[in-house]
Amino acid sequence: MKPLLIATHNLHKKEEIQQILGSDFCVKSLSDMDLHEEIVEDGDSFEANALIKAKYCFEKTGIPSVGDDSGLVVNALDGRPGIYSARYAGNHDFEKNIAKVLEEMKGKENRSAYFITVLCLYDEQGARFFEGRVEGHLLTENKGHQGFGYDPIFVPNGYDKTFAEMPSEDKNKISHRKKAFDLFLKNL
Ligand code: IMP
Repeated sequence: MKPLLIATHNLHKKEEIQQILGSDFCVKSLSDMDLHEEIVEDGDSFEANALIKAKYCFEKTGIPSVGDDSGLVVNALDGRPGIYSARYAGNHDFEKNIAKVLEEMKGKENRSAYFITVLCLYDEQGARFFEGRVEGHLLTENKGHQGFGYDPIFVPNGYDKTFAEMPSEDKNKISHRKKAFDLFLKNL
């Protein structure tokens, strides 16, 4: 099994990624490596933030490392909340963040949006990037209670349910994260 360090403390994220990558990889988190320093994500794009995290992990440990950065991109809002998705109105306050997006979307005809994940793999060869997107549209109010973040207002194309109304196994089959990791696996 090849070790792969993921730049997260989030056990749920680590397990989801281990599940996607399968038994060829042994996924480690920052906590597994005793890395508790805050990584400052001050990049101006998803790529820049993913690179900052992956490079930090590789330079600290020498283990091939993956940084990921995800967010919701709303076309009628010129791409916002984008890289600010986690802290658009309140830091990791999903309700406030959704409320701000819905307020800004009032009266907008174009409700199309997409979720994006950018992965950066950093190892001896330097940085490589992999991107996954899922296109859809935004509702005018929350529907469903599963998932996290903007899931209750996002309906992926080809479905009539929000991500928050789908069982996590269904969402994880079509999600932006899944697509980015599939590309990563295909290209290794
Ligand atoms: P992260 O880069 O994976 O931490 O994601 C940043 C932020 O984007 C999260 O805090 C959420 O607000 C939003 N986000 C990313 N992925 C998803 C998703 O699958 N569903 C809903 N919101 C998401």
